[in-house]
Amino acid sequence: MVEINGNTYTCGLIGNPVEHTMSPVIHNNLASATGENIVYVPFHVETGRLEAAVKGAFGLNILGMNVTVPYKSDVIPFLSDIDPLAQRIGAVNTLVRTENGYKGYNTDMPGLLRAMKHDGVSVEGEQIILLGAGGVARAVAMLLADNGAEKIIILNRTTEKAQKIADEVNEYTGKEIVEVKKLDEYKSLASDRKYLAVQATSVGMYPNVDEAVIEEDEFYNMIHTGYDLIFNPLETKFIKLCRKNGANGFHGYRMLLYQGVIAYELWTGDSVSDELAEQVYEKMLVAMNA
Ligand code: NAP
Repeated sequence: MVEINGNTYTCGLIGNPVEHTMSPVIHNNLASATGENIVYVPFHVETGRLEAAVKGAFGLNILGMNVTVPYKSDVIPFLSDIDPLAQRIGAVNTLVRTENGYKGYNTDMPGLLRAMKHDGVSVEGEQIILLGAGGVARAVAMLLADNGAEKIIILNRTTEKAQKIADEVNEYTGKEIVEVKKLDEYKSLASDRKYLAVQATSVGMYPNVDEAVIEEDEFYNMIHTGYDLIFNPLETKFIKLCRKNGANGFHGYRMLLYQGVIAYELWTGDSVSDELAEQVYEKMLVAMNA
């Protein structure tokens, strides 16, 4: 670990709660491995104190911050600038210090893309089933559209929310690339092909580990790969059902790793190799089981 001295810079995480975060494991190991004199700490920010936290961080010369639930959208008015991707997604998870204040970025989606690349999962030319229509699913739909998905079928319990995302993405792309169905309407999809499915609901997350948003084998027979964004547990029921039915199954822990790696690269200008990222990933696995 970095030895703290007069030249140490601080980075941190603002959110509520922050007590279970893995980000200190990611960033303190990266700092140690890359020789940067940086420490990373969690900051629990109470409701109503977000603006004071961002201004205070700037005043204290804090180099960079991550932002987590519930502040990813609320933080935007307190930034001096925002990256176009973060603006479009409407959520910021990384603040980078500039002369006048913090510039906001979203590294969750580039992180997912880098994780998928690591796992050998490609989006280009795919017909993709997106399960869920929450905040993350909205960003994922944008990401998939941006990266060459042929078609995105959003399946969600509340179809109004999914339709809103579809309208936004279709307007952005200028094509009718997204369509919306109820969860059980997957049965109406063409069965002469296999789909990539991205699982972006919160169903199956700890402690409800015995649930998947769709549980019928029939659904899993339609997909070649299932990519779950949940990372606790690592093997969700969704992933178990994918594997049971002969599909590949991946979890969201590497997405978490790579959103951190990309934030670290933005703060330091360093470039983190895949090899170093994997070493940090091993430490995350140890920390998760500790
Ligand atoms: P959110 O805005 O609360 O959305 C939750 C989604 O789950 C909605 O589509 C909701 O459907 C659906 N859902 C919840 N309970 C359901 C149920 N009983 N039956 C059917 N559908 C249900 O959550 P979010 O912020 O988008 O996060 C979604 C997931 O992404 C979380 O599990 C989180 O762990 C994961 N995530 C992972 C990473 C990573 O780094 N790997 C980063 C961020 C988030 P309705 O629209 O019908 O309510």
